[in-house]
Amino acid sequence: MIYLDNAGTTKLDEKVLEAMTPYLLEEYGNASSLHSMGQKAREALEKAREQVAKCINAKPREVYFTSGGSEGDSQAIISACRLGERKGKKHIISSKIEHHAVLHTLEKLEKEGFEVTYLDVYDNGIVKVEDLKNAIREDTALVTIMFANNEIGTIQPVEEIGKICRERGILFHSDAVQAVGHIPVDVEKMNIDMLSIAGHKFHGPKGVGVLYARSNVLLTALIEGGAQERGKRGGTENVAGAIGLAEALNMATIEMEEINKKQLVLRDRLISELSKIPHSILNGDREKRLANNVNMCFEGIEGESLLLLLDDEGICASSGSACTSGSLDPSHVLLAIGRPHEVAHGSLRLTLSKYTTEEEIDKTIQIVPKVVEYLRKMSPVWDQLEKGVRKHVI
Ligand SMILES: *Cc1c(COP(=O)(O)O)cnc(C)c1O
Repeated sequence: MIYLDNAGTTKLDEKVLEAMTPYLLEEYGNASSLHSMGQKAREALEKAREQVAKCINAKPREVYFTSGGSEGDSQAIISACRLGERKGKKHIISSKIEHHAVLHTLEKLEKEGFEVTYLDVYDNGIVKVEDLKNAIREDTALVTIMFANNEIGTIQPVEEIGKICRERGILFHSDAVQAVGHIPVDVEKMNIDMLSIAGHKFHGPKGVGVLYARSNVLLTALIEGGAQERGKRGGTENVAGAIGLAEALNMATIEMEEINKKQLVLRDRLISELSKIPHSILNGDREKRLANNVNMCFEGIEGESLLLLLDDEGICASSGSACTSGSLDPSHVLLAIGRPHEVAHGSLRLTLSKYTTEEEIDKTIQIVPKVVEYLRKMSPVWDQLEKGVRKHVI
C-alpha cells in the first residue's frame, strides 16, 4: 500500500519501538511505586519529560503527559475558562478551522454561557492578525488558534498571535498536533501559554500526548485519581508511551530540515501534476503550508468514492479529517475557505511522511487523474457541467 494519510496518523519508527520495548517487558514497574523497578520507570519518565521540554524550549515541569491531542486540547481550553470565569471573563477567541477536539470543547462551553468568536480564515486558510486584535475584549479569557491545520496544512501566524496575547494579558493555547515534530515550535519565543501535542503524528505511538502549560497557568484536572502529573492528570503513567513520544520527537527535531526538504519536492510535484486535472483547485495557501500536505478539490465527484477507488488501487488517502469521514457533512475547513458545498464534497487529502518515496508519488500521479476521470464519466453532476446545464465553479 502507498500510505498517504500521515495527517491521520503515522507509522511507528522502529527506533521508537526499540526505545519503548524495555519499559514494556523488563522495566515495567509503576512509576509511582517506591521499589527500584518503579524508580527506574520514574527516572525514564522524567528523562522523557526533559527531552520533550528541550524540543519545544519549555521547562520539564511544564510538560504534562496525556493520552493525546484531544485530551490536551480539552484540558487546555477548560483550564483557561475556569481561570477566566473567576475573574468574570467569559469570552474566547478561536478560528473556524480548528480540530473537532477544540470546536466541540468550545461548543460545550458556549452552552455554559461562554461566548466564542470564531475568526475567519479567508480563502487561503489563514487568520488575519488584524481580525484577532479587533476581536479582543475586556472579558477575553483565552485565544485558542491551531498552529497548523490538519486538513489543508496551512500554518497560522502563531508568533504574532502570541505577541498580541502576551501584550494584552490573555492566555494563548495552540493545538500544535500537526506542527510539533514537523516545523520549529518554541513556546518561549512564540509566547505560547499552552500547547497540545500527539505522539502518533510524528512516528511515535498512539494514545500518548503532551500538554505544555506555562508554569503560571493552573491546570484543571479532567481525570481525577492519584497525584500523577503534578496532580493534574490521574492514572498510572504510560511510561513506554512517554518514552516513545520523546524519542520520536527528538528524532523528528533532529531530522526536521532534511525531511522537509525532501517532502517539499514530492509535495510540489504532486500539486503541480494534480493541478493539471481540469476543474481542480488546491485548498489552502500555496506557500504557508506544511511540507507534507496536499489537499485538492475536484469538481463533479464525491470524495468518498474517490477514496474507495484509490484504496482499490493501493493508495490510502483521506478526504479531510478522520473525524469528518463517515459523516455526510462536508468539511468545515473547506467551507470556511469558501468552497461551495458541492465542491467541498469532492476533496482529496494526501499527506506524506519521511517514508514516502519518489516511486510512490510517481504512481499516485498516474492513478489519481485516471480515477477522477472515471468517476466523472459516471457522475450525473459532471454530465450537467459538461452540457452547460450547470455552471462550473472551479
Ligand atoms: C490528530 C489531531 C488531533 C487529535 O489528536 P489525538 O491524539 O488523535 O487525540 C487534534 N488536533 C489536530 C490538529 C490533529 O491533527
